[in-house]
Amino acid sequence: MPALPPRLVDALRAADNTVVLTGAGVSAESGVPTFREAQTGLWARFDPQELATPEAFARDPELVWNWYGWRRRLVADASPNPGHLAIARLQRLVSDFTLVTQNVDGLHQRAGSRDVIELHGNILRTKCSVEDAVVEDYAEEESPPVCPSCGAPLRPDVVWFGEMLPPGALEAASEATRGAEVFLSVGTSSLVYPAAGLPFEAIENGAMLVEINPDETPLTPHADYSIRASAGEVLPRLIAALSQ
Ligand SMILES: [Zn+2]
Repeated sequence: MPALPPRLVDALRAADNTVVLTGAGVSAESGVPTFREAQTGLWARFDPQELATPEAFARDPELVWNWYGWRRRLVADASPNPGHLAIARLQRLVSDFTLVTQNVDGLHQRAGSRDVIELHGNILRTKCSVEDAVVEDYAEEESPPVCPSCGAPLRPDVVWFGEMLPPGALEAASEATRGAEVFLSVGTSSLVYPAAGLPFEAIENGAMLVEINPDETPLTPHADYSIRASAGEVLPRLIAALSQ
């Protein structure tokens, strides 16, 4: 287990603004399979990159809806892990805190995090495929159900390949990032843009950049500290050090 950089604990105590960016690694510790790993059983023969697109939904809405129904059940069966819980505690320990996630499973909220910026949407929410408005009441037995307002098929409220991020999400993340004194990149491969650009924005604006990830990433050479371990191992120790 790598040691915690003492300067990180001091910097977090002193920081007026802290931003945490999380990725698939944090969810993987809860047993939520990553996009590719999720393809097992009946779904093994489908390429997720060919299911998570507007074109796939237009071609076969029932197939795409059912695939998401299956992924929603995987998420529902998962629970927040020590990494999620530590991030929720961190929010209460530091002064101004922003959590930005690329995960769509809502596990941060279930762990107690508030005001989470979800860059890629949330798999548990449903929206109208035409009006883009979130819909809560619909006929569950249909695949896909239709929009009560306009009759268009409903879809999961996630960002598909080739789609824009939700309006305002990237702007809010970017604004928080520019003001960050400490930026933690946690459990992300730092490969998927525009999220992967946020840490660089933090560095340009003078933040201390800390990466927590078991593997080296394109961000590693730019980080002030790169802690090569999982969030569930490192973050509870960080919280313990901060609470002393
Ligand atoms: Zn509609």
